[in-house]
Amino acid sequence: MSGFRVHNTLSRQLEDFQPREAGHARMYTCGPTVYNVAHIGNFRAYVFEDLLRRWLQFKGYRVTQVMNLTDVDDKTIRDSQAAGMPLADYTAQYKQAFFEDMRALNIQPAEHYPAATDHIPEMIALIRTLEEKGYAYRAADGSVYFSIDQWPAYGKLAHLDRTGLRPGVRVATDEYDKENAADFALWKAWDERDGDVAWNSPWGRGRPGWHVECSAMSMKYLGPSFDIHTGGVDNIFPHHEDEIAQSEAANGQPLATYWLHCAHLMVDGQKMSKSRGNFHTLRDILARGYAGREVRYELLATHYRAPLNFTFASLDAARTALRRVDEFTARLAPAAGGAPAGALPGWARAAADRFETALDEDLNISAALAALFDAIREGNAVMDAKLLTPADAAAVQALLKRWDGVLGVLEKPAEAVPPDIQARLDKRQTARAAKDWKLSDALRDEIAARGWTVKDTPKGQVATKA
Ligand code: AMP
Ligand code: ZN
Repeated sequence: MSGFRVHNTLSRQLEDFQPREAGHARMYTCGPTVYNVAHIGNFRAYVFEDLLRRWLQFKGYRVTQVMNLTDVDDKTIRDSQAAGMPLADYTAQYKQAFFEDMRALNIQPAEHYPAATDHIPEMIALIRTLEEKGYAYRAADGSVYFSIDQWPAYGKLAHLDRTGLRPGVRVATDEYDKENAADFALWKAWDERDGDVAWNSPWGRGRPGWHVECSAMSMKYLGPSFDIHTGGVDNIFPHHEDEIAQSEAANGQPLATYWLHCAHLMVDGQKMSKSRGNFHTLRDILARGYAGREVRYELLATHYRAPLNFTFASLDAARTALRRVDEFTARLAPAAGGAPAGALPGWARAAADRFETALDEDLNISAALAALFDAIREGNAVMDAKLLTPADAAAVQALLKRWDGVLGVLEKPAEAVPPDIQARLDKRQTARAAKDWKLSDALRDEIAARGWTVKDTPKGQVATKA
């Protein structure tokens, strides 16, 4: 289990991945702020993290991944009030939508999805520790701030020039830019804009700042020090810089060994974002007739550190690429004919080695996909020449399955049975139980006329799209 190199934002260099605990990779991935349906820019980050997770598993590591849900912050409060809804009801609908979208993109679930509002006591305890150690101070309005002057390492992730810092100047909002680096809010005293969103604390009624949420939740589920922390590049400053300051000042240990950040999904040269209004949700794209699998391929196929420009033409190209995969697997199945797998033929072995070397090098997905498509080309040529034995074909099938454990796009997901077909299947089951074969056959024909095939198996009827 060696040989995996990752680009660490802390050092701006490629480093060998070595977990703190042998055989176990622990990672924290900043999750969605549930004030709206996530856009596919957000999902670029989650698809990148999914590839990372799956690659670690392929390498034999047990993975513990934590992804938080930010369900209280400036934006969730603002928009729940605009909608006239209690915060918890407002965010619940977007949590649900988020998990639906994650499934549509075949993203493996994390081990933990802690929500910020379930961890207020942990946040208060962390702020207390920072106060006791002299890193935090209370402002006149009852808010508590982190003092960047007390923390000489401030700026190490974002590589800030410390002479530009403005200690003693305070920034109350969750988001701000590098030019305005200043003492940031750990606890925000209640004001009327918060409505009924407030918790009791040693500093009076109020709510946590966004950054402290992740520090408290990562500590609870992964301990004070873990292996990998990820997010989009926009998270580097201030969010991750502030997480480092809070966690490391409190615990005296490095928060994470490796910091990995994905570049943005762009639209016409600009970051896809809600505030710019240039975004597409997954739902919009599915409604246009694209499959979750095609969107996943599109988000996956560009190296995570390279900006990716979103266009519908590139989604069409993803569709074409997947069609080639499907044609190949459809050809391979009868060639294997259920034979036991033999050793991989030489051309497939070479592709397998290239695939692994590529992903070991900071998840070089373009080279890994090139190995896949070269294997498809060679496999087709060998089949054209009738030189692929059933044992060879079965070995190649097994290789594709192994690869799909990492890519999550090669296998075509079974299409859900629509209600009109299901109704006929139910009727047919009753007919068969009553040994009414005539009706059973008539229903099979009706189902076939609607583009579905039904097979009778020992486990019952199985319907597949023809
Ligand atoms: P948010 O819900 O804004 O906190 O963002 C959730 C995650 O999506 C973070 O890791 C962001 O860095 C990431 N993200 C937001 N916009 C984009 C984008 N256009 N491209 C890639 N990642 C993004
Ligand atoms: Zn975070």
